Amino acid sequence: MVNETRIDAASLTGIRLATLPPLSLYVHVPWCVRKCPYCDFNSHEWREPGEAAAAIPEEAYAQALIADLESALPSIWGRRIETIFFGGGTPSLLSGAALDRILSAIRARVSLAPGAEITLEANPGTVEAARFGQFHDAGITRLSVGVQSFNDAHLRRLGRIHGADDARRAVEAALRAIGNVNLDIMYALPEQTLEQAREDIEMAIATGVPHLSAYHLTLEPNTLFARHPPPLPDEDLASDIQDLVDQTLSVAGFEHYETSAHARPGARCGHNLNYWQFGDYLGIGAGAHSKISFPDRIVREARVRLPRDYMQRAIEGRALQSSQAVARADLAGEYMMNALRLADGFEMARFTERTGLAATSIGAVLDQAARRGLITHDVVRVRPTELGRRFLNDLLAMFLAA
Ligand code: SF4
Repeated sequence: MVNETRIDAASLTGIRLATLPPLSLYVHVPWCVRKCPYCDFNSHEWREPGEAAAAIPEEAYAQALIADLESALPSIWGRRIETIFFGGGTPSLLSGAALDRILSAIRARVSLAPGAEITLEANPGTVEAARFGQFHDAGITRLSVGVQSFNDAHLRRLGRIHGADDARRAVEAALRAIGNVNLDIMYALPEQTLEQAREDIEMAIATGVPHLSAYHLTLEPNTLFARHPPPLPDEDLASDIQDLVDQTLSVAGFEHYETSAHARPGARCGHNLNYWQFGDYLGIGAGAHSKISFPDRIVREARVRLPRDYMQRAIEGRALQSSQAVARADLAGEYMMNALRLADGFEMARFTERTGLAATSIGAVLDQAARRGLITHDVVRVRPTELGRRFLNDLLAMFLAA
């Protein structure tokens, strides 16, 4: 049963989408070997404290995912899936056979774009070269490896279960098996120096991967780090580290195309680009979120969060926890929260196509943001300036308040 369904007809008046945006599929795998102290994702240790180690219930979970997808088919009827992303949690805890079964079931039920990018998130502590080969054979075309740091002391501090050597071996194996690899790196870590941050980012570049995602460590509510904050670099040092990371990547030939994403030419992440361009995505799996456009409305959905509840309810065709149409007044702000993360910004025509709103509806705010030096814009394109990218929250606040 959907606990919360609010489609307020009055708030939707005037929305009419001439075309529907590209559609991606997100598959959430909610288990990790151990919960990291900074993590606020929907990820769970798969055994209770004191329980013996056991494999994740991948067969039952695969069945639940397939049932979930089948229940969702009417909302995406006739539409092609452009990209797939297995995120978590730690999807690399799945065996190659389970992944193969899930991907085969997806292919049998939806039309997948030829050569579609299919990404899987992997952790260096839980995987080995042989499994990357199986993932490749199952159809994975891109691996995103959660390295976070190449410094053992920092990895321990972050509660990671892998060491620097594991990370190096995993990246080598990923490059051998699949080639199209992203590394997640975090900076502004507890007691991290500028020199240590430099070593980390240089080591990441030296691996030869074509894509790097560099994230500033933040203390998220409801995490162990929020309850017991570690000694983080002060604001000035954190800002110097961020500059150093961005500049080092730029000098090495990476394009800083999104707030945290850096890619060699031709290696941008198609799946994430679809999010940032306000495309549609169907999310299946525990706690997964969806954004689905219809000619007269845009709907956001969330699946049941707890893995055991999700598995039971998905089989019964009741995986949905909430479904809510985006109010017309929120559309411009939601669009900007995604599109202004991109260095290239967005085309005005794309804004109208994806939101159904006229360009004139944001004209006054665009002018105001331009006067403050946060964006440049003409009739064709809006781009955040360097200042706008640095003070993205201030820029977004202008659209959210409008
Ligand atoms: S491995 Fe990733 S998803 Fe799992 S707890 Fe750590 S940060 Fe969160």
